[in-house]
Amino acid sequence: MPTRVVVAGSANMDLVGLAPRLPRPGETVLGDDFVMAPGGKGSNQAIAAARAGGTTAFLGAIGSDSFGVTLGARLTAAGVNTSRVRTSYGTSGVAVIMVDRDGENSILVSPGANRTFVDLSAGEKAAIAEADVLLCQQEIPLSTVYSALRAGRAGGTRTILNAAPAMDPPPGMLDEVDLLVVNEIEARAITGATEPDMAGLLALVPRVVLTAGGKGARYADRDGRDEHVPAFRVAVADTTAAGDAFTGALAVAWGEGRDLVDAVRWANAAGAVCVRKVGASGALPERSEIEALYNA
Ligand code: ADP
Repeated sequence: MPTRVVVAGSANMDLVGLAPRLPRPGETVLGDDFVMAPGGKGSNQAIAAARAGGTTAFLGAIGSDSFGVTLGARLTAAGVNTSRVRTSYGTSGVAVIMVDRDGENSILVSPGANRTFVDLSAGEKAAIAEADVLLCQQEIPLSTVYSALRAGRAGGTRTILNAAPAMDPPPGMLDEVDLLVVNEIEARAITGATEPDMAGLLALVPRVVLTAGGKGARYADRDGRDEHVPAFRVAVADTTAAGDAFTGALAVAWGEGRDLVDAVRWANAAGAVCVRKVGASGALPERSEIEALYNA
């Protein structure tokens, strides 16, 4: 049986302008190419989970503008169920990204419709309770994340929080989390320690996956397991969305009943396939690509 995954999160249109250098305040710079691509951690992780083989539904809000149409179509094309996605009158979430020829960037995120994704309905909570795995991030109002996690816990759904972007979660929210996925920066934001503090994280949640880019990931839990799972060695083209590929695949693998260390290894394969390709949601791997690298 495929894992039933519900992602409650953000959808953004990424507007990426490439330029010889980043403009200074008040300055206009003539740029190079321009690329527009659907993104947002929620939407990316829903697409990642669907491609990894999960039966996936997305809960979130898109705007009534033309970006909203494209964001919805992107999810649907990836096989994600969008029947409960809200359309809110106004602009969609937009990320305005400028990248210079050295790869340096400046990013402005306008949350738009994502900010209106509050007060989960009975139907949204029921969808969460019926799923095998709930996956949340921190690009929507945290009150909504908290309430989604509570609905998951109450319904017996496994709850995963990818605590990105980094912020200090509100008191009590982590009590509803079965598995926390963080990189080192996000881990430090939660514990307040200068180094990733696994014991500190395990005092807050029962299971933690700490991702570490090209080094792979570390899994630890309250039963005393603490294992480093090395990354797959691949030629890196673009690390954008690697964390989203990893987290979406991890949700699917855990829901399939894999042991979590093995699920992390499978998710490492998904992250590695993603970094081999240029792009964000377009680089998220299909299950066959994950399997091929995992079994290599
Ligand atoms: P984030 O972008 O959220 O900080 P990471 O950079 O830790 O996430 O990457 C997430 C996962 O993607 C890693 O745990 C690893 O499995 C995979 N990954 C990232 N970078 C590489 C790389 N250079 N080579 C192989 N795998 C990678």
